[in-house]
Amino acid sequence: MRWNAETRTVDIGIRTALALSESSQPGVGRPASAARARYGTLCHERHRRERQAQGAVGEVPVSLCRRLRGWEVTLRGRVDLVEDGERARIVDEVKSVIGPARATAVAPKAMAAAVAQVLLYALALQDETLRPAQVLRPRVVLVPVDPGDGPALPIDVAFDVEDAERRLMTATGAVVDAIQARLAEHQRRTACATRLTFPYRQPRPHQRELAGIVEEALAAERPVLLEAPTGIGKTVAALYPALRHALGAGAQTHYLTAKTTQRQGVAKAFDDLVTAAGPDVPLVALTLRRKDQMCPPGHLRCHPKQCELLDDFEARLLSSELMATLLDRGGHIDPGTVCTEASLQRLCPYEVMRRLEPRVDLVIGDYNQRFDRAATGDEAPVVVIDEAHNLFDRARELASPFVSSKLVQQARDRALDEDEPRLREAAVALTTAVQQHIEQAHAASQQDGERVPIGGFLEHAHDVERWQRLGLEAEALGLRWQRARWSAQDVRPDDPVAELVEMVTRMARQIDKARTHVGFVAWRDSPRGEGVGLVCVDPARFLESHHRRARGVVVMSATLSPSAYYAEVLGLSRLDPVITSAPSPFPVEHREIVVVPTVKTTLAERQAHLPAIAQLVERTIAVEPGNYIVFLPSHAMLAELRKALTLSRDEVLMQPPGASPAIRRRLLRKLADADRPQLLLAVTGGVFAEGVDLPGRALIGAIIVGPTLPPPTFERLLMQRHFEERHEAGFAYAMVYPGLRRVIQAAGRVIRTDDDVGVIMLLGERFENPSYAACLPPHWYRHDVRELSTSDPIARLTAFWSSVAPQPC
Ligand code: SF4
Repeated sequence: MRWNAETRTVDIGIRTALALSESSQPGVGRPASAARARYGTLCHERHRRERQAQGAVGEVPVSLCRRLRGWEVTLRGRVDLVEDGERARIVDEVKSVIGPARATAVAPKAMAAAVAQVLLYALALQDETLRPAQVLRPRVVLVPVDPGDGPALPIDVAFDVEDAERRLMTATGAVVDAIQARLAEHQRRTACATRLTFPYRQPRPHQRELAGIVEEALAAERPVLLEAPTGIGKTVAALYPALRHALGAGAQTHYLTAKTTQRQGVAKAFDDLVTAAGPDVPLVALTLRRKDQMCPPGHLRCHPKQCELLDDFEARLLSSELMATLLDRGGHIDPGTVCTEASLQRLCPYEVMRRLEPRVDLVIGDYNQRFDRAATGDEAPVVVIDEAHNLFDRARELASPFVSSKLVQQARDRALDEDEPRLREAAVALTTAVQQHIEQAHAASQQDGERVPIGGFLEHAHDVERWQRLGLEAEALGLRWQRARWSAQDVRPDDPVAELVEMVTRMARQIDKARTHVGFVAWRDSPRGEGVGLVCVDPARFLESHHRRARGVVVMSATLSPSAYYAEVLGLSRLDPVITSAPSPFPVEHREIVVVPTVKTTLAERQAHLPAIAQLVERTIAVEPGNYIVFLPSHAMLAELRKALTLSRDEVLMQPPGASPAIRRRLLRKLADADRPQLLLAVTGGVFAEGVDLPGRALIGAIIVGPTLPPPTFERLLMQRHFEERHEAGFAYAMVYPGLRRVIQAAGRVIRTDDDVGVIMLLGERFENPSYAACLPPHWYRHDVRELSTSDPIARLTAFWSSVAPQPC
């Protein structure tokens, strides 16, 4: 829908206008999947081609224009088929159905919508081209999705001009109502934008400047890549201008982060903004939560007959007034609150949350909320992506499908249990075809004796056309399967047939993206078992397409150096980004950062240098006793270093492999409550290297043995080749930059507040290498990164600790 408040004109699709005129909200029912829409389109096209061959005209544009309450509303549409005969002008609205047309009961609501649509088409086609002898004959034509389900079924619809005109005016009225509601919402938001103020009287150093940079960039329609260290208050520095910009345009802001704790920080920043703005700024935010965490029964069998919280959902939601209650309170709506209040009303909290989402001003969620599902609302939001150093790998994972033989077998077992013979046959046929693909891919790759699998994976050029055909078959089966499950009241979260359909369609959709995706076969001994898949080596274009759909984009983190690399891999480089980096807000005299190049840490040399590393660690912690963390590239090296240290058992804590959250909490508590100095040995890139806050004396130093390059896995090597071909910087892009990012994250544990004092030591010759040193944050040194290097770190640390020692009164 496009509208202009000044000229008071609206342009809207006929279907959308009719949907607006329906009294209730969209019902909870079988999810309307993207596959359903795609398959519906294919089915339309097939039927249209057949009818066009017989003389009908397809995709005929029509429009109807009416004035109402000072608005000029134009409704437009495309008629599926029009056929001019001697006696009649046939006007067809095609409706795809799953199953034979004669035997399929179309939902009354869907049928009513199709009837209303074809009547308005007929009204538009009742023009001067209609010959006197012709009558209008509108029809709804039911066309089976699967051609094997038999012929199409035309159903005549009685046409009466007055009735059609009345329907048109009802729809026009609904459009005007919707526009006026939008306008009121738009005016509320723009009024809020002007009244929103920076929430803190005393901003942290550089915080206001950052907010200003973001504001200017958004106004200039340029994305922002913002590197800002911990403690600068970058959440508010980004959220404040993002909200103002979005509200000024009447739009939403989406703030995406990878971790729950960060989302809580965003909610707190929003509450501060709302409090500072006062009661006249009625803004609402909502934090999203995963479905399995919003399901009181916990079984995720989302069918009204299986879950009473979904039974008669729309009517009960309306009469409960829960939406209005939550929205009218203003401020941040916590998912826990949604859960509690929805449960009290015996309503599904997840469905309530989904309905709240388009109505709030700020949506706080995970990256998946934007990058792995269809957008909600029709206004493009301003998007803030926090801790964006995680986004590259998350986006790659989302775009890398894998079909395992194990899943195929599970789907086959499930399919064989299906009662309906034709559906059972189709599901089994899909599993057979997929398994054949897997086996043929394996056989083909085995014949190529020259290449050796890496970690059980071998590159393989999949047959694009075959997978695309298989994708279509899978989608068609998926629709029928979904419908059958719904009819049988047997909806389950763990349905291997549905999962296989999803994976096969994802493969089919990505299979032709040769520039960014590489096909592979996985052998039985691979960590993922036998199967086939695609590795997304570069998600930049995928991310860019999402950024282009946003009203503004802010991408930020404490570790985004080198900025050109992050701008490229996070999909910003072609969007003319504003790139900015903030200095540390903490006193530089509170920290000492040293690079010690006298030890070597490559796999081949580290054993010989282990005694020297152990000695450096022990001498460092002796200069200023307190709690330290040593970050190591692997658990194996962690164990070796422990052996080389002479410290006693009760002085050393160790991160065990696969440390659970409970173990992590226990070790952190030990550090925080320690009554004698503790040394924690942890893994760089592990659970102690990110999101850990140990202020004051709880942590006074981090010693990082590295750099910790990612292991040269199959995926990494493919990435390396891709970036070498593209930028002649394969090793840097695939290994060095991700490795150094982990180092900087680990180093960031030490200084978390103004009062923290501590040391950061990077142990390893390679830290001096220019391509590695280029990744170290500029705020770590004054003029030149070489200032950090020293062959006598103990003297530097001794001088540092003396300089920060408490002075006698
Ligand atoms: S409808 Fe809601 S409450 Fe019921 S099973 Fe599904 S997610 Fe859970």
